[in-house]
Amino acid sequence: MSAAQPFPTEEPRDHALDACFLGPYGENDTLLEKLLVEFLRDHVYWRRNFHPEDPPAIATTAAHHPDYLAFESRMRRELHQLSAALKKSVPFHSPRYIGHMASDLLLPGLAAQMLTLPYNPNNVSEDAAPVTVDLEVQVGLQLARMLGYPHDPAQPACAFGHLTSGGTLANYQALRLALALKAFPVALRAAGVPELPLPTDAWAAFNLSTVDGIALLEAWQRWLAAQPPAQRAHWLQRVEQERIEQRGLAGFFAAHPQLRVPLVLAPVTAHYSWSKGLKLLGLGRDQLELLPTDGMRLDPAALRDTLERCARERQSVLMCVAVLGGTEYGTIDPLDAVLAARQASRRRGLDFAVHVDAAWGGYLATLFRHEDGTLRTRDDVAADYTQFPTPAVHAAFAALGDTDSVTVDPHKLGYLPYGSGAFICRDHRAMALLAERADYVFHAATPAGYLARYRSLGQFIPEGSKSGAAAAAVYVTHKVLPLDHAHFGRLPRATVRAAEGFHARAQRFALELADCVHALVPFAPDSNLVCLALNPHGNTSVATANAFVRALHDELRCDPQQPLQTREFFGSVTSLRPEMLGPAQTARILGALGLDPASFVPGDDRLLILRHTLMNPYLIDRENGISYIDRYFDFLGRRVRALRGTAGSRP
Ligand SMILES: *Cc1c(COP(=O)(O)O)cnc(C)c1O
Repeated sequence: MSAAQPFPTEEPRDHALDACFLGPYGENDTLLEKLLVEFLRDHVYWRRNFHPEDPPAIATTAAHHPDYLAFESRMRRELHQLSAALKKSVPFHSPRYIGHMASDLLLPGLAAQMLTLPYNPNNVSEDAAPVTVDLEVQVGLQLARMLGYPHDPAQPACAFGHLTSGGTLANYQALRLALALKAFPVALRAAGVPELPLPTDAWAAFNLSTVDGIALLEAWQRWLAAQPPAQRAHWLQRVEQERIEQRGLAGFFAAHPQLRVPLVLAPVTAHYSWSKGLKLLGLGRDQLELLPTDGMRLDPAALRDTLERCARERQSVLMCVAVLGGTEYGTIDPLDAVLAARQASRRRGLDFAVHVDAAWGGYLATLFRHEDGTLRTRDDVAADYTQFPTPAVHAAFAALGDTDSVTVDPHKLGYLPYGSGAFICRDHRAMALLAERADYVFHAATPAGYLARYRSLGQFIPEGSKSGAAAAAVYVTHKVLPLDHAHFGRLPRATVRAAEGFHARAQRFALELADCVHALVPFAPDSNLVCLALNPHGNTSVATANAFVRALHDELRCDPQQPLQTREFFGSVTSLRPEMLGPAQTARILGALGLDPASFVPGDDRLLILRHTLMNPYLIDRENGISYIDRYFDFLGRRVRALRGTAGSRP
């Protein structure tokens, strides 16, 4: 059994977290119920007070009519069926759930969303959402501050962010924006706009830095505003005709044969939303070049080589994606090295956007922010952990503010309901290029101008109609738990500490079961995802190891045929592929597991491993002195021995 003291007793319990969630046992049910009833009544009074002189349109006797009663009973029957069916849902709330990137929901967000739903605001524009559109724009500024972007709308170079259905769409928005900004100077040249400081050729125009591209856009807007109305319309139309958004990829690149369709560079660990994004934008998956990693973190040397090759071949690059918290291993790419590689590439005339896919790890940035918004030193952050943050991880978070755009998923480590992803760009002025209606002459120099502009949110986002309730949920949560280490940061702090405990326990587990299996954490976790590779002792075949891990996972996954209670724990799996790992890492991991690299069967050339997402805030239950991490490893040990048929031979 687990040690009597699963965690240091001197660690004080964080009471601030007690009211954050409904809780694994529904402990805060009365709090949520009170809030729901209170604000439902509030909503009803609002309806009644709109024009109290209007009499009730539904008769007070209506509820006695047979048709009414029949409808009600049908509705009840269906709702009960739904409610019964939903009992098969995945128990995300439980500390026994350590599978995918999901957990309990923060009460402020859940309550704000439920409160807002009956008002049904549509954040496509202020006409349909006079309140929640503003909240969404504020959410963008809250996230910008967390990331280290300029967040004062009174400043011209303020960041801008908006919500999306999820990280997938936010990544797509990053591609759209980068392409618009990259191609616009080429259009200005092609249109022959006079008096502007235009680059000398199409290649140079296609390789302006983000800063220079935005400066040129601004110069063009100023020039246009100074033209007489007839001239203005003429030039606006001429430039529009040359834009990539107007001509399409085919027309644009046919008109500029000296330019090639640009590449998107991303590490092999990149989420599959990048493949979707390239398909959606029409760039094609051929243009997604996946770069090798070192221990699942983008390899800066490989990036530098690729950029040198691209500069030499005059192959343009749209964007380099760095992942902040990989979906499989939670690893963190060296953003600082990516930015340095861009700096070097710039000198060779090849420039591109740097986007951070922080769909998973974005909220970890709260750990690195003081309450006043400044960056915490590594030593300061490290005082709370045994390993975290490595110098590389700290450097990556410190560099966030110098990137061009970021994806963050409030519905992952923000503990908010689906679907809330977020896209944030460092300088909002480029967003003018995404506007469906070219509103060039408009200047957003004042905070009022900034807000007024983005109240027509539908002009800029990939979606149209969208949930204002989701925006309210994110906004209220960020107000209740500001995005710094002293507030929101307490949550990721608990999860990173749990991951460190999990990692240490996994290493002990490997020793305890050394007579029975080889067990290995293949990559030291950068954040709060920890994987575990397993191979039965004496086995050298990858196929047999995979069958073993699959059998273990069969007891760790959702099975709609089985009652939920038959499951002790929930985990997930992922796979290690040699082409993703590279030869050195493949040899290291297979060697440590006692597996023969030659046993990789073509078509099955992957090694299945267990994957654990440690985001539940109650993995260590201080109230009852229970560590669900210890319980999980006890369970896993029993299953491993049972599968090996060595249940009786425990030392
Ligand atoms: C989850 C994830 C995505 C996709 O986000 P969705 O919200 O599922 O659309 C993209 N990138 C990374 C790194 C992710 O973890």
